[in-house]
Amino acid sequence: MLDAFDEGIVQMNHRSSGFMEVCRKAIEEVKQKLHVPEGYSVLFTSSATEGWEIVSQSLTVQKSFHLYNGAFGKKWLEYAKRIHPEAAGQAFGLEEELPAKTGAIPPDAEVLCVTQNETSNGTQVKKETLRQLREQYPTPLIAVDATSSLGGVALDFTTADVWLGSVQKCFGLPSGLGILICSPKAMEVAKQIGDWQYYNSLLFVHENFEQFQTPYTPNVLGIYLLMRVMQMRESIESIERNLRQQAAAWYAFLGQFTAMQPLVQNEAVRSDTVITVAADEKRVTALKEKAKQKGITLGNGYGDWKNTTFRIANFPAITQEEIVVLKDFLRAEG
Ligand SMILES: *Cc1c(COP(=O)(O)O)cnc(C)c1O
Repeated sequence: MLDAFDEGIVQMNHRSSGFMEVCRKAIEEVKQKLHVPEGYSVLFTSSATEGWEIVSQSLTVQKSFHLYNGAFGKKWLEYAKRIHPEAAGQAFGLEEELPAKTGAIPPDAEVLCVTQNETSNGTQVKKETLRQLREQYPTPLIAVDATSSLGGVALDFTTADVWLGSVQKCFGLPSGLGILICSPKAMEVAKQIGDWQYYNSLLFVHENFEQFQTPYTPNVLGIYLLMRVMQMRESIESIERNLRQQAAAWYAFLGQFTAMQPLVQNEAVRSDTVITVAADEKRVTALKEKAKQKGITLGNGYGDWKNTTFRIANFPAITQEEIVVLKDFLRAEG
């Protein structure tokens, strides 16, 4: 941020060649570091939520179909329904794998929507499951909300057409910037649909980004910081390896307690980036209170699990020291 100040980034006109260069580099870094396939477009939005909205506005004529097992996936369906009342979905259980081979997906679904890492309960959809879904349903677009794994997990972007997220989770950046990754097929469908109605219609946004421009004044500082963080980061494979080891260590650590336990028992669907811990409501409240006194903010539960869980971010920006402090605290109080 100090560099951004010194280099005049924070006062930069977003129509200037200086900004266009920052935007170009940020996109290039994201593509390189995350291994975005050739031909896929990387665009910036204001948030992951805006990504949901764009999928409904610009890539759906009537019907998206949502497979979900938690609050974010459900909210996505609710947002989609406001734009297209025919949007529908199927919930699956917390301990279940996403039903990639389900017969429940209607043949007229234009877009299949999946939350890869369900931040509300700490479950994830395996890469292999997404591949199966793609093979099983080659025709509809597949849109994936990867908000709490993008930048932390080496995702296989070839298995879906739209990947959306934002930078305040695994990128460790201040909020207010979203990332949207679109396959050539997604852009093809956008052209067929031809939505140019909104300031954030995909075709309009895409046309702007081809010139490293935006339809509105963007989060210039956020884009610059994303570029710098991407430049600093080690390979995504190595980040994923570390996070996985750390996650395994967290689950093993939590296994030694009786009064608190990982919420998710099925190891095959446990998230590597969001560790959700379940305990009875009184205990969760007491733990949060004690943590607060020690200067530690325990992540609240969310949705159905609001009062009976707390969540631990296993994001790349979290340091070893912070992990040690939290483990010491839980050992003493748990
Ligand atoms: C955080 C989160 C969102 C919302 O992100 P915004 O940037 O606030 O729009 C959406 N989906 C998932 C899975 C999330 O974790």
